[in-house]
Amino acid sequence: MGYRIGSGVDFHQLAEGRDLWIGGVKIPHHKGSLGHSDADVLLHAICDALLGAASLGDIGQHFPDTDNTYKNIDSKILLQKTVELVTAKGYSLVNIDSTLCLQAPKIKPYVEQMREVIASICGVTVEDVSIKATTTEQMGFVGREEGLVAYATILLLK
Ligand SMILES: [Zn+2]
Repeated sequence: MGYRIGSGVDFHQLAEGRDLWIGGVKIPHHKGSLGHSDADVLLHAICDALLGAASLGDIGQHFPDTDNTYKNIDSKILLQKTVELVTAKGYSLVNIDSTLCLQAPKIKPYVEQMREVIASICGVTVEDVSIKATTTEQMGFVGREEGLVAYATILLLK
């Protein structure tokens, strides 16, 4: 059976005057993610996990931050393009599991909406998209609210 597993991780700084996009959802907060695109840490980790499972390299290779095409781009478009690359290689997505590490704000009220957005782009059901969240108990750069991290694991079937 052609099962393939992939893992992805992404980091972004948090800064005043930026929007906070996580999992394709805009979350009201006094800080947002800093980056070339909309800096959606969860969608980027999912893109990398998809590319990894299909041995297609990483997100920086496909969507370089030196290319102005991707400046402030909605990461939902990057995820859509990534899904197309993976499906073109004959893979279908089985499920996604992910974990977000951030100190604030609480993201629980937005998780269902994120799952719906991701499931619809990836062509799976909401049940196939898991999003967990944790703080780092005030430790490190996440604890100081200087940045956030997302991890994703994906199973593909050929
Ligand atoms: Zn990123």
